[in-house]
Amino acid sequence: MEKAHKGSPIALPDYTGEGPARGDTARWRLTVRGIVQGVGFRPFAYRLARDHGLAGTVANTGCGVVIEIEGPLPNLKAFLHRLQADSPPLARMTSIHKEAIAAHLDLSEFRILESDSGGKRTAHISPDVATCPGCRNEVFDPCDRRYRYPFTNCTACGPRVTIIEAVPYDRPLTSMKAFPMCRDCSQEYHDPADRRFHAEPNACPVCGPRLSWHVSSGDRISVSDPIAEAARALKEGAVVAVRGLGGFHLAADATSQSAVGRLRRRKRRRVKPLAVMVKDLAAARRLARVSHEEAALLTSPEGPVVLLVREAGVRLATNVAPNVRDVGIMLPHTPLHHLLFAEEDAPPALVMTSGNLSGEPICAGNTEALERLAGIADFFLLHDREIVTRVDDSVARVAGGRLRLLRRARGYAPRPMAVTWRLPSLLACGADLKNTFCLTRGKEAFFSQHIGDLKELATLNHFEESVEHYAALLEISPKGVVHDLHPDYASTQYALRCPLPRKAVQHHHAHAVSVMAEHGLIGPVLALILDGAGYGGDGTVWGGEVLLASAYRFQRLARLAHVPLPGGDSAVREPWRMGLALLWTILGPDALEEACLPPFMRALPWRERQVVVEMMATGFNSPLTSSCGRLFDAAAAILGLAHLSDYEGQAAMELESLAWEAHSGGQKWWAGRENHWGRDANLRREGGLWIADVKGPALGLLADVRGGVSPPVIAYRFHAWLVRSLTSICKRLSGETGVKTVVLGGGCFQNMLLLDGLLEGLTEAGLVVYVGEEVPVNDGGLSLGQSVVGGNLLGGAVS
Ligand code: ZN
Ligand code: ZN
Ligand code: FE
Repeated sequence: MEKAHKGSPIALPDYTGEGPARGDTARWRLTVRGIVQGVGFRPFAYRLARDHGLAGTVANTGCGVVIEIEGPLPNLKAFLHRLQADSPPLARMTSIHKEAIAAHLDLSEFRILESDSGGKRTAHISPDVATCPGCRNEVFDPCDRRYRYPFTNCTACGPRVTIIEAVPYDRPLTSMKAFPMCRDCSQEYHDPADRRFHAEPNACPVCGPRLSWHVSSGDRISVSDPIAEAARALKEGAVVAVRGLGGFHLAADATSQSAVGRLRRRKRRRVKPLAVMVKDLAAARRLARVSHEEAALLTSPEGPVVLLVREAGVRLATNVAPNVRDVGIMLPHTPLHHLLFAEEDAPPALVMTSGNLSGEPICAGNTEALERLAGIADFFLLHDREIVTRVDDSVARVAGGRLRLLRRARGYAPRPMAVTWRLPSLLACGADLKNTFCLTRGKEAFFSQHIGDLKELATLNHFEESVEHYAALLEISPKGVVHDLHPDYASTQYALRCPLPRKAVQHHHAHAVSVMAEHGLIGPVLALILDGAGYGGDGTVWGGEVLLASAYRFQRLARLAHVPLPGGDSAVREPWRMGLALLWTILGPDALEEACLPPFMRALPWRERQVVVEMMATGFNSPLTSSCGRLFDAAAAILGLAHLSDYEGQAAMELESLAWEAHSGGQKWWAGRENHWGRDANLRREGGLWIADVKGPALGLLADVRGGVSPPVIAYRFHAWLVRSLTSICKRLSGETGVKTVVLGGGCFQNMLLLDGLLEGLTEAGLVVYVGEEVPVNDGGLSLGQSVVGGNLLGGAVS
């Protein structure tokens, strides 16, 4: 059977059967749950019923799609089989409930009913979907009535969650209600054989949303073709704010150093890598190495930004992603983007970064964007379809042949995750950086899109609004609230203001359970958590731990040795402080002696160094940390990278990129022994806890720097040491506990070299290893783990 998403209307076989024989006729009610609304499910059911000569009805309800179907039993069975086997590409059925009901026998046809908006709602909401090939062809077909129409969509593609105001998903409850359909569109919309049958955002140049072109003051300039105008402005080096599906992008010519520089200066983004959009897969291959899996991801309906290894000597301005190996590339995901790249003037690659001020949520409304982005954009390419929910681009990569989402947003959220545990209705508030939240309903976890950094007031407001919006859409009224153990997190403060039973979950326990939840692991597991920082509750900052974890509780088995964190948060922004802290642990007061220090540290003002050393010596504002992320910062600083951090994880990313230069590939690359870096897993026992030495590698680093070993080789040795030691720690703990399953979590696993090495090392040691795929390993994945731990602990108390 031809699938419903493939372009032109499907020829329906004429049903010439004799109708249901009375003897073996039955009537079934099928309740289909999952993502089945807004994905062409009803027309699919309609065609299937016609194919099998069945009568009945199909309707969208708050509980999913309800099909009542009547006819000969063999036909019913065949219908049910194909309903599951041939479902539309975007549908995600989570369950089909079948119930035999009394036959009517008065029905002769199959009909699609108007939506029933009453009843208990357990509906799901589809994410937005990148333009399908059928729609793209129409947009470029001069004979088509949608030729060059930038808002073309169908049941297989287009906006969804970003336009939905309430469920059930029907046009009057979306921001498309402002655009009454013309006759042609209405005909398509009502024709069950058309691929736009009940395509809620259906529109055309006659009746649908339109573009407009504005200068930075906001004044509208009347032009015949805003897209051609935008292409020309971009070619001339302008920064253009482009309104998209879930918010604004700031676009600039990615091949022009000066255009990118202008965008960076105005957005106050010194070196943070910027995402790039190119016309198609062939263009992506000109910039980066693209594997088979990566190509599939780039062209998928989700269409994330994919982190790819940059090809040497490509025509991309060097300031797009300075000092890092990868470049984030995405393909056009709306007809507007396709049309923009088809313009002769369009640059071959565009920076397309979130249209926001650093740290704030992405702009969605026209007025808001004109106000907030006025100092950044030279021009605005606007449209008049309102964005109800802000959704950023997703960021993904492929590692170990699997998808690894680093930021879960457009295309993925708010697709639910099925979890093993039946949870009470809860809100889990997530972490403060890379915030996401999670609402639960039974065995489903609705894990929000990337919200951002809650330290910004605007982002905190976005968080609060989003929680309310999703709770209303999904009709979940939380009976409890779960938050991080950190008392100062804005998300914790929010939870404390909720008049509901609460549960605090330790940060790294939540990281571990996020991985368990995604992979359906009950535990106990060994959780190797390598992270930036997490509140430990013992006065130290955690971030390099092995936990024995279940969905209820955890026990800390091992950690990295402590290093002071001089100045607390300022040590995170200024990695040189961590460099000095690590040297101080081996040199003591000698860390102030010029002769002892690597060149880069020597160049720092003596007075600043002295203040930091004094802080550490007295313990003033110098909490101890076992953080692996901070150890990366320290190593990077000793090598002279990232003196000050412009974005989270910068030092570690630069260190990783450097290490790849010395990486020759091959199996067990990490196994080489640099003895002066210390024995593998130099462990000591302290109060029931294994402590992994960091002095060995600190001495190794210093000796290598003094010995003139090249920085890429030193960076590489650092990674190899980590893989070797962590592998042997896990091996030992597995032997002690008898647990053979290891989950990897925490932001450090965004590092591909570390992840590859540990996957290989741990597997070789006979352990079974799991790591986040659709759930980010960084704090973006935290809320899922929180909801499972909190749900299990609060349990019956709130249900
Ligand atoms: Zn389409
Ligand atoms: Zn129309
Ligand atoms: Fe974390």
